[in-house]
Amino acid sequence: MKTFHIVGAGIAGASIAYHLLKLGQRIIIYDREDDGQATNASAGIICPWTSQRRNKKWYRLVKEGAKYYPNFIKELESFTQKSTGFRQNGALCLFKDDHIQNLAYKRIQSKQKDAPEMGQVLKLTSEELLNFHPSLTTDFPAVFVEGGAQVDGASLLSALKHAINSLGGEWIHDSVDPHTLDGQVIYTAGAWSHEYTPHPEVRHQRAELLEVALANDLQPAVSPVVMGLGPMYIVPTETQHYMIGTTHEDTTSFDIETSEDARDYLFTQVKRYFKGTALTKGQSSIGLRPLTDQNLPYIGPSGNMFVVNGLGSSGLTAAPVIGREVAQYLTGQSPVLDLTDYHSTSS
Ligand SMILES: Cc1cc2nc3c(=O)[nH]c(=O)nc-3n(C[C@H](O)[C@H](O)[C@H](O)COP(=O)(O)OP(=O)(O)OC[C@H]3O[C@@H](n4cnc5c(N)ncnc54)[C@H](O)[C@@H]3O)c2cc1C
Repeated sequence: MKTFHIVGAGIAGASIAYHLLKLGQRIIIYDREDDGQATNASAGIICPWTSQRRNKKWYRLVKEGAKYYPNFIKELESFTQKSTGFRQNGALCLFKDDHIQNLAYKRIQSKQKDAPEMGQVLKLTSEELLNFHPSLTTDFPAVFVEGGAQVDGASLLSALKHAINSLGGEWIHDSVDPHTLDGQVIYTAGAWSHEYTPHPEVRHQRAELLEVALANDLQPAVSPVVMGLGPMYIVPTETQHYMIGTTHEDTTSFDIETSEDARDYLFTQVKRYFKGTALTKGQSSIGLRPLTDQNLPYIGPSGNMFVVNGLGSSGLTAAPVIGREVAQYLTGQSPVLDLTDYHSTSS
């Protein structure tokens, strides 16, 4: 039996390892747990249907990712008896005014035919919004997408690690030079990819999340995630607590010190949505989000290695299905997606 060496165990590497093990393969996974690992910092939203991005390859990948999520989580949680923080309570998307809400509603609803897993799409007045989330301001009209979900990156990774160990995977907590390994190497090193290969070129963004507590939170029985104006989002965690995300700072630095400017920015943003409620700042969490120049994940060969990287701001959404597809591809089976889309330069 062939041995697969997987270098880097964020969500990309761990998901590939899990799916290869399920196909009966032998794997050794290496991870040095760098500070700034993107997966560990992320409190993620799974809701690709509302994005305005027009890149079709990207949409095919994240759409398939969101479709796969509920079954993937069900199987993983029942196998490990561990929670991943996955909750499918819907997503509320807020808009500046009724005109933009109308356009967005039509755009989102038009995707439903090809993606029935997104569930109902409802156009809400600002007052109807309160039935879904009583603590929010009524300043913004909204669209509700029933299939929207959230997952906790650190908990998901911990469950995958548990599954990998139970399925006989070998986990090495150390740095490794992938060029010293014999056999098939899968290189999933996130923002640190440049250390052992220039291709694909991977840059990174520093992304910071801020936890806030609401003094008098009128929490609904079921809390949806909220996608605010611009790229900001609100993810419910425990009672009266939310993670507010994120900053998008292009950088070459690997520094992950908390920045007061970023915390203030996120706090100012969130105050727009919870008006008249006392808010308190909590902890920050920071991750280095890996990106390629095309803002499209790279899945394919690089020299003697197979590389998966550049998962960007939708990596939690895409990684489980990438794991499934790569495992099939590398064991000679037929993946659902055409993986050449993710290592060729044609659009
Ligand atoms: C704050 C934040 C919020 C996010 N929100 C969302 C969201 O709402 N929805 C969504 O879908 N996605 C979201 N993302 C994106 C998602 O989290 C990332 O795309 C994904 O986690 C990237 O995973 P990765 O495995 O490629 O990299 P990483 O998680 O960074 O893992 C790379 C690993 O490789 C290890 N490594 C590197 N080199 C070596 C070596 N030579 N030897 C051993 N180990 C090595 C590193 O130590 C690290 O552990 C968010 C990200 C952040 C940071």
